[in-house]
Amino acid sequence: MSESKAQSLFRKIPSVDKMLSQTSVTSLRKIYSETTVKRIVRKALESLRLGILSGEISEGDFDSVDLDKLLNTEADRLYGRKLRTLVNATGVIVHTNLGRSPLPKPVIDRITEVAMSYSNLEYDVDKGSRGDRNSHLRVLIEELTGAESALAVNNNAAAVLLALSTMAEGKEVIVSRGELIEIGGSFRIPEVMARSGAVLKEVGATNRTHPRDYIGAINQNTALILKCHTSNYRIVGFTREVELNELVEIGRTHNIPTMMDLGSGCLVDLRPHGLTDEVTVQSVIASGVDIVSFSGDKLLGGPQAGLLVGKKEYIGAMKKNPLARALRMDKMTLAGLEATLEQYTRPEGPFQSIPTLEMIARSSERLLSDAELLASSLRKSLDPNFVITIEAGSGKVGGGALPMGDLEGPRVTIRNESLSAAKLERSLRFGATPVIALVHENSVMFDCRTLLPGQLDILPGLIKKAADIATA
Ligand SMILES: *Cc1c(COP(=O)(O)O)cnc(C)c1O
Repeated sequence: MSESKAQSLFRKIPSVDKMLSQTSVTSLRKIYSETTVKRIVRKALESLRLGILSGEISEGDFDSVDLDKLLNTEADRLYGRKLRTLVNATGVIVHTNLGRSPLPKPVIDRITEVAMSYSNLEYDVDKGSRGDRNSHLRVLIEELTGAESALAVNNNAAAVLLALSTMAEGKEVIVSRGELIEIGGSFRIPEVMARSGAVLKEVGATNRTHPRDYIGAINQNTALILKCHTSNYRIVGFTREVELNELVEIGRTHNIPTMMDLGSGCLVDLRPHGLTDEVTVQSVIASGVDIVSFSGDKLLGGPQAGLLVGKKEYIGAMKKNPLARALRMDKMTLAGLEATLEQYTRPEGPFQSIPTLEMIARSSERLLSDAELLASSLRKSLDPNFVITIEAGSGKVGGGALPMGDLEGPRVTIRNESLSAAKLERSLRFGATPVIALVHENSVMFDCRTLLPGQLDILPGLIKKAADIATA
């Protein structure tokens, strides 16, 4: 656009006062303070100016610019809710990008109760003096895991950092080359190790590590033997891994503590549900390892947290580490984690109340009937160009747990010769409640396993709307 044309358009930009007299401002004033409303107006005017400069708004469209709509859009863009709920139809239960474990209602209630009030967070009510925030969870974790002592921090990355810093700063930690894991792109054992001040001593080869590799690496400066759960991959084929009990034995012989970074931290046996790979925290503790670390929001099904369990002597030292203060858990998480762990003590067990476990244990009959319900509802509402089928698929536990443990289950698959799956998938994400689905070749697929209560009722409507928009 020429300079003079732009100049003449700039003159058409309404004044702040004119903007403030728009009808939408009346409703914005009910939600936002005067200062905020003025900021919205300023941003709306700025977007008009930018539109002119970029050529997006030309002479012709200027008069048709809907100022009310513009103000509402700006208000929403700037001050609308950003973190919001969505429908996870991927079948990946502990989906790291989608918030991992949804919390049970009793857990939310407890968080609300404690968060809204004063509490005995760091107060010993019996003694009438200062208390320790760690004391609240300790007994419950110790009871459930069989460990001597326990400590909870913000997440498992923090737990590993704290353990390494406490047990091995300035000293060597032996890790197998097959277990130098990376989780979610930002947690890597070698990097966390470096930050903790410990020195990584890699042993073995990627596919094979033998007991003699560990033994050969032990020297005066060795502080710890670390085993990491290869939670998001498996090394298959010609492999040799030193089992935990062998490592414990080596550690004992040479008077060196052992630690296992377990990652997912499961407290219940998942074998009856077809997942044979995941060891429980209890069994790892029973094997004699000195320290175990795991997450609160993976298979445990609770809030984001990192749990350290094991020998009193090491946990005690971790509590005294200045890093413990920086990594400590807040009162809401503490309340939520306590309420989550309590579910494991109930007569009915945790499989009904904890959504993550309920989804893992969901019966194949239930999964099929949910898929049939969704499919039949879509057959009624979508136009006949959509071909709707139910196909066998497999979900995943996800969240760096059980990489090989696929959860068999049906998937509702829709395809339309005249509409690309990518376009439909995008339209699903752009709805008021985004739906995250899977795309395979030219189909969009929905796995009902990860639907939360009530979502099966709204999903057909959301899909219909997205399909209408995508085909319009
Ligand atoms: C997930 C995972 C971590 C990181 O735990 P966060 O709770 O995400 O910080 C560390 N180690 C292993 C083995 C994991 O699976």
